Amino acid sequence: MDRGPAPVPAPAGERDGRRRIPRTDAVLADPRLAEAAARLGRGVVKAAVVAAQRRARAGEIPAGAVADAAAGALPVTAAGLRPVVNATGVLLHTNLGRALLSDAAREAMLVASGATDVELDLATGARARRGRSALAALLDAVPAAEAAHVVNNGAAALVLAATALAGDREIIVSRGEMVEIGDGFRIPELLAATGARLREVGTTNRTSPDDYAAAVGPGTGFILKVHPSNFRVTGFTRSADVAELTGLGVPVVADIGSGLLEPEPLLPDEPDAATWLKAGADLVTASGDKLLGGPQCGLVLGKEEYVRRLSRHPLARALRVDKLTLAALEATVRGPRTPTDEALHADPASLRERARRLAARLREAGVDAASVDSEAAVGGGGAPGVVLPSAAVALPEPYAARLRRGSPAVMGRVEDGRCLLDLRAVPPGQDDAVARAVVSAAEGR
Ligand SMILES: *Cc1c(COP(=O)(O)O)cnc(C)c1O
Repeated sequence: MDRGPAPVPAPAGERDGRRRIPRTDAVLADPRLAEAAARLGRGVVKAAVVAAQRRARAGEIPAGAVADAAAGALPVTAAGLRPVVNATGVLLHTNLGRALLSDAAREAMLVASGATDVELDLATGARARRGRSALAALLDAVPAAEAAHVVNNGAAALVLAATALAGDREIIVSRGEMVEIGDGFRIPELLAATGARLREVGTTNRTSPDDYAAAVGPGTGFILKVHPSNFRVTGFTRSADVAELTGLGVPVVADIGSGLLEPEPLLPDEPDAATWLKAGADLVTASGDKLLGGPQCGLVLGKEEYVRRLSRHPLARALRVDKLTLAALEATVRGPRTPTDEALHADPASLRERARRLAARLREAGVDAASVDSEAAVGGGGAPGVVLPSAAVALPEPYAARLRRGSPAVMGRVEDGRCLLDLRAVPPGQDDAVARAVVSAAEGR
């Protein structure tokens, strides 16, 4: 029987090295790690120590460097989510958490993270309507809406509308608006999951107001108009405007997707809440973390009667948002321009100037970097086909993976064998962090 080669004893030096690996308790006593344990939790710090000990045992680092390595590998917070610089050129990158919150929204969330008057009137001491100031902000921003309600996300807004307004009756929807919103989620399946029945009208490329009118009957819950937000149909096409769907005796619910509250001249094909409400929609639903530039949530705006039916439905409780979301949403709506809005409107000349300066700084540090013109996109399933002229720093392709693993992680995109760091979605204040991350990646740190 072949037993394979006999085990070879480790060389004496290596055995000694193993013995010299400091014990976990001893490493945890390092003042940097003790402080971190108080801030991040002992388990988080211990995991970093154990990983560093493993690297020392594998001979990757000297035994004496375990504490340094552990301290250097500590996470930024006690949560696993790490900060990422979005240099993909996609403004609303779903995998990167869509919209960046404004400083105003972050501050509001921090305050709300303590005990806060989310459901209390401090003047009287009586219970008050949850999130009333966030709702008031929405109504101030969209005077065409009589009332507003906020749920977890755009999908939840549709589910609540379907449940509260259709029940087991029919939702009339155009075959051209049967949208898959990403990661395999399809609006028709989402609606059908509520028990409502979908009544498809028209064809993929053409649906007329008459198609809707012919389908309306006693079994109709409402007409749903969905903005086909992530694809384009061109050629021989026809769809019904919101204004053409009113007057059929059933409510019109319009899903705009993007969360634009008013028209955005740069994106003429993106619908907005004010315009569709003025056109006669009874309810508009939207996401909070797309072009509105706020936290993940779902907005419902429209006629008081219908908003109330949604907000009073038992399911509303299951879809309600927390105080952090309400705080961030209100600060987004009332506060200064959002990072999303600034990125959307960034001037290509200033993006080019930033790319030139960054590339020059990196070349001085010995990095093979060049500034190049680039093309950015809105993303997040919005404004398909819209190209936003942009500028990027081009690096050799291997930088893409190294930057992704750095701290902060920098997420670029690989194009034509190069790693492009597109600056349109990078707030100007992060250029310095990008430069330092690239230099670290160049040094293999
Ligand atoms: C994004 C989108 C949704 C889903 O919104 P979430 O906030 O991601 O749940 C629904 N409808 C349209 C038209 C969308 O663009």
